[in-house]
Amino acid sequence: MVEPSAEALVAAYGSPLYVYDLARVEAAYRDLRAALPAPSSLLYSMKANPHPLIAARLRQAGCRLEVSSPGELSAASRAGADGHDVLYTGPAKGLAELDRAVAGGVRSFSVESFAELRRLGQVAARRGVDLTALLRVNGGGAVGAPGLRMTGTATQFGIDAETLAAEWSPDLVPDRVRVTGLHLFPVTNARDEDQLLDELAAAVDTAVEIVRACRLDPEVLDLGGGFGAPYAAPGSRPAYPRLRAEAAKRLDEAFPGWRTGSPEVTFESGRYLVAECGTLLTTVVDVKRTRGRTYALLDAGISVLGGMTGLGRLLPMRAAPVARPGSPGDVPVVDLAGPSCTPLDVLGRNVPLPGARPGMVLAIPNVGAYGLSASLIGFLSRPMPAEVLLDGEQVVACSRPEIHHVPVTPARSGPDSRGHDSATG
Ligand SMILES: *Cc1c(COP(=O)(O)O)cnc(C)c1O
Repeated sequence: MVEPSAEALVAAYGSPLYVYDLARVEAAYRDLRAALPAPSSLLYSMKANPHPLIAARLRQAGCRLEVSSPGELSAASRAGADGHDVLYTGPAKGLAELDRAVAGGVRSFSVESFAELRRLGQVAARRGVDLTALLRVNGGGAVGAPGLRMTGTATQFGIDAETLAAEWSPDLVPDRVRVTGLHLFPVTNARDEDQLLDELAAAVDTAVEIVRACRLDPEVLDLGGGFGAPYAAPGSRPAYPRLRAEAAKRLDEAFPGWRTGSPEVTFESGRYLVAECGTLLTTVVDVKRTRGRTYALLDAGISVLGGMTGLGRLLPMRAAPVARPGSPGDVPVVDLAGPSCTPLDVLGRNVPLPGARPGMVLAIPNVGAYGLSASLIGFLSRPMPAEVLLDGEQVVACSRPEIHHVPVTPARSGPDSRGHDSATG
């Protein structure tokens, strides 16, 4: 980030501060489009960053939106999407959530169980609308023998490929619901292009098997994504020089009609599109020596960045600020601690921090995806950072999300808010 300077932005909008550059969002979109086989469509997964202006820019560029909560759906509509531009996904969509999505205009869902397909039918009937469904398939990934991988791992996502092959029947599709295709999402944040290509090839194989076993004629083949991006440390988006040609070759063999949109091939991405657009600016409040270690105490911690690392699946945070010109000579190595009253509030350990001193503004790069909204934003009830949107050098908007209490009155009627299926199963 060159202009305006980190210090000027913090002086104007406060610290900590998320800064997103829409020009970079567009650059990432162009790069990904150029890497993907054509024709294909691209969905932006709003869980990476639900900021409506980011989604709006991606929509203008040509993305549709993938949402998985009422909040993401309302952010999508603030981004100008109507429900028809949206695919609604998620492993535990009960009746109330499906009904609310349909009331909000959504017509396409990724369906993750046979029971959910029935629930979708109930909502379609109640609302008197026609809905489309992709069957989300748990294919088990790119290991093992070709064909259906009976050994894939258990997950809460989708319907196991072998279950679909064994139990599928058109009778499972309720009135007013049309199953239009398959949704596969084999991998997230692939470590390199080889893994990405392997997973995509496996997803296409799974789709071929399912289409044959279930006698489907898919209009849509959503192959998910897995496109990588750095997180909270310097680095750039990976390039995928072989993807376009190799995916096209695989699709030519498996679904020869894809080049004329039959099926329409779709990809999904969150982090690749938005990770690089975002920087977290945070101020060093104190530099403290304690029993042989040095802590830089920041005004940003797990309540604004990387809060999900505590859940055990992700590695400990290893945030690394962009190197900035510091005082020459001594380069202290510090632990970056946040302001929350817990020893868990650490954004990085053993980070070289030239010129470490109170008042210094640090820039943690590559936090446009899974930054603020993937953090413990309710914890400690600190004010959330403002989010400032740049378009290149121009500040185009700034706002601050807030959590606050609103009165809730008991529901009187309407859909079963427990979200259970009234039928068996
Ligand atoms: C989270 C998610 C994505 C986005 O994943 P990224 O790694 O951010 O690209 C795409 N599709 C589905 C179904 C997801 O759940």
